[in-house]
Amino acid sequence: MSAYQEVQNHLHHHQYRWLVTGAAGFIGSNLVEALLRAGQQVVGLDNLSTGHLHNFDQIEKLVGPDLWSNFRFIKGDIVSLDDCRSACDGVDFVLHEAALGSVSRSIEDPILTNSSNVTGFLNMLVAARNAKVKRFVFAASSSTYGDHPKLPKVEDQIGKPLSPYAVTKLVNELYADVFARSYGFESIGLRYFNVFGPRQDPRGAYAAVIPQWVAALIENREVAINGDGETSRDFCFIDNVIQANLLAALTSNPDAINQVYNVAVGDRTTLNELYHAMRQLLSQRFPYLHDHKPLYRDFRAGDVRHSQADITKARELLGFNPTYRIDAGLQQAMNWYVENLSR
Ligand code: NAD
Repeated sequence: MSAYQEVQNHLHHHQYRWLVTGAAGFIGSNLVEALLRAGQQVVGLDNLSTGHLHNFDQIEKLVGPDLWSNFRFIKGDIVSLDDCRSACDGVDFVLHEAALGSVSRSIEDPILTNSSNVTGFLNMLVAARNAKVKRFVFAASSSTYGDHPKLPKVEDQIGKPLSPYAVTKLVNELYADVFARSYGFESIGLRYFNVFGPRQDPRGAYAAVIPQWVAALIENREVAINGDGETSRDFCFIDNVIQANLLAALTSNPDAINQVYNVAVGDRTTLNELYHAMRQLLSQRFPYLHDHKPLYRDFRAGDVRHSQADITKARELLGFNPTYRIDAGLQQAMNWYVENLSR
């Protein structure tokens, strides 16, 4: 039996109380859905700055009224220690996703990014430690590799951060490490690499590339590629991220705790390849896309040129085994976007 099957079996027989921060956002809402489906009790905390209540409406429909009754939403801000304290009350596990994403947002407003991502993170650590939660799993980021040239990326070889956002994510790891040393507090950091899937927001100036392009393609608008399109990423479907979070929360391997892990597939896809794969998938539904062409524009400040993960550490210590490569994930994500954007 795989480590993930063991965890799923365990959840089948034990009900815990989970706090998911950033619950109304893309990754948070998918974690909430997975936990509810597994019969768990879930508290969601979100200030709705980039997340949406309509994500909850969708989960409610998907899981049905019985499982949905195990969910409680707190509209609150992690920048407030009081909000963090009330959310952590009686909680067994924290999955901390709340943060302001986007490299470019952080370059435009580093103070705003710092307040959610550093002050908010520290508040959550203190509140979770005081509430004696069993473990704190948090969203770290591949941006922590910064200017280190090595590919694929291995956890203990990082470079200098290339943006204020990357600084905040590195600081998260440092604080988590110090909380382990100073207070014996258990945490695990997951360095996500370009996650995609249903409910990722396609709108706004800071939208991630896949949802932004799907929306543009469905609406037959321009798709802009920053640079020559040979920039590459290790795109990771959301189900792999859910798996990593559940493994991290429940692992009983003592060597696995108080570590950070790459969470990705270990593949590398260029933006040109991504564009063509997406256009091909969508042109079956929208024939006008056969003639669609991307527009190339300048490289964007703070962007890393290539990113690809070595996932050996997560495989060996957590039993992580990503089940979706990019093509299968894109297919599922496209189906969701077509259903939800083209009404
Ligand atoms: P998202 O914007 O969809 O979700 C973040 C959620 O956090 C939103 O619902 C937002 O309203 C909430 N939030 C922000 N600041 C808050 C605050 N001060 N108090 C309470 N709630 C707050 O983004 P996402 O893609 O789901 O990202 C989730 C986490 O994963 C973030 O920590 C992000 O940095 C990290 N991450 C994401 C990716 C990716 O590819 N999506 C990659 C690396 C790391």
